[in-house]
This record gives sequence, structure tokens and C-alpha cells, in this order.
Amino acid sequence: MLQQIYWWFVSLFMSDFWEFPALLLGARRCPVCGRFRRSVRRSRRSTAYCDDRLNFIVCCDDCYEREEDYWADMWSDYYSGCM
Ligand SMILES: [Zn+2]
Repeated sequence: MLQQIYWWFVSLFMSDFWEFPALLLGARRCPVCGRFRRSVRRSRRSTAYCDDRLNFIVCCDDCYEREEDYWADMWSDYYSGCM
């Protein structure tokens, strides 16, 4: 019984049920981590793809920080390989 209630809460939490109230609060679902955040926006990545659409990412602040760290590492590896 308790487990049933637990799964009910879990499935409710994972569902799109929160999408509408979240939108009212100005939050959007982050496509990267799947959480509802108010900080979700389109930002420029530290990449230089020829197709400029690939140089943007839609995500929340947390994911953007992780993304920046990742590319900062990639670029420092790239430059240390050039020298
Ligand atoms: Zn995110």
C-alpha cells in the first residue's frame, strides 16, 4: 500500500502534470536535465560549428555551467595539443 502511494507520487512528479503550473511561474523544462527551472534559456555555447544553429544550447543555468566547463576543458586540451 505504502509502495503504491510512493509510486503514485513518483509518477506524478515525473509526469507533465507540473508543466502547466510551472509555466505560470515562468519556469520551463530544461531539455538537458529535464527539471523545471526558471533559468532555462537559449545561450551561446563555446563552440564554433559552421552551422550557427549548433552553437546555441537551450538549458538551465546549472547545465550551462557544466557545458561551459566541458568546452573549456576541450579547448584547453585542443590548444595544449597545438603548442
Ligand atoms: Zn538543466
